[in-house]
Amino acid sequence: MRIVLLGAPGSGKGTQAKLLVEKYKLPQISTGDMLREAVAEATPLGRQAKIAMDAGQLVSDEIVLAIIQERVTRPDARKGFILDGFPRNLQQAEALDQLLTSLGRPLNLSLLVAVDVDALIQRLVGRRTCLSCGQMYNVYYAPPHIEGRCDECGGRLRHRADDNEETIGNRLRVFETHTLPVVEYYKEQGSLRTIQGVGEISDIFKAVTKVVEDVKSNLKNETRTDAIRAAFAKHRATKAEKAAAEKAQKKSVKKKATKKAAKKTVKKAVAKKKVAAKKVATKKVAKKKVAKKKVVKKAVARKKVTAKKTVKKVATKKKVAAKKKVAAKKKATVKKTVKKVAARKKVAAKKKATAKKTARKAARKKR
Ligand code: AMP
Repeated sequence: MRIVLLGAPGSGKGTQAKLLVEKYKLPQISTGDMLREAVAEATPLGRQAKIAMDAGQLVSDEIVLAIIQERVTRPDARKGFILDGFPRNLQQAEALDQLLTSLGRPLNLSLLVAVDVDALIQRLVGRRTCLSCGQMYNVYYAPPHIEGRCDECGGRLRHRADDNEETIGNRLRVFETHTLPVVEYYKEQGSLRTIQGVGEISDIFKAVTKVVEDVKSNLKNETRTDAIRAAFAKHRATKAEKAAAEKAQKKSVKKKATKKAAKKTVKKAVAKKKVAAKKVATKKVAKKKVAKKKVVKKAVARKKVTAKKTVKKVATKKKVAAKKKVAAKKKATVKKTVKKVAARKKVAAKKKATAKKTARKAARKKR
């Protein structure tokens, strides 16, 4: 159990804390005691705290929070603790919540020991504490058998330095201003329980124990309910896990099938492409062949044309040559004929001339 005891100075929360420690074997964590120890040992922290404590003011949050953090995380506080005199203001209450949440050990109970102011003052002024065993007395209504000596162990009784009227006034004002808001804080959180701190210590303790037992049994029930919830949750989780595993398997099978089908489709597509490519290639080859044939045909045709042309040319040449020959022959024949005619004409002229000569001769002869 993790318990915070709240109450004004002199409310008897320290006494109740000690009784709780005895009954539940939990460590009591009292910031006031720890600070007083530090002051007695005159440690640097104690020297710092003394001024505020003597004036009935609060010691700085920094110092108190450091003390609490160190103490709450000690192994003996694992099973629980009773905080006495802490938290004393809202900042401390919030810091404590944060610390305990981070440790995964939240508070179970904040218990306010309520006492009216007049009774408080009487208690504080008459309060005596045993220096050896911590037993408390009050010189007005619970005095020791021997003045200044503890009934239990015979130790010396101490009247606290801050239990004088002036400091008490300050401490009560500090409680009203700073600590009452903490009471409200826990009330809002729903963890606050209040008992009246008036009457016999044992009766008050009975009331305290009743509240603690009540919270404890609630916690047990909660733990049981939590355990049942956890079991159900586990069962649900297992079911859900199974369903998820089955779903995953189905999914994986479907995935595999889809993959296979996709592979097949790809294969088919590739094969189709190959066939198409082959067709295209064959067509290309055929086209090429046709083109080649055409080229060959064209070449053959061209050759034929050329051959024809050549033949024609040769024939024309031959014709021309033949014509030329004929013409030459004709020329030669004409020339010959002309020559012959000319020769004949010469012969005829000669004959004529001869005839003329002969005629002339004959004429001359006649004459
Ligand atoms: P207590 O014995 O609890 O009455 O405390 C005695 C004095 O110690 C107080 O008057 C404060 O000066 C100082 N003190 C104890 N606890 C705290 C705390 N939580 N915060 C600040 N000061 C504290």
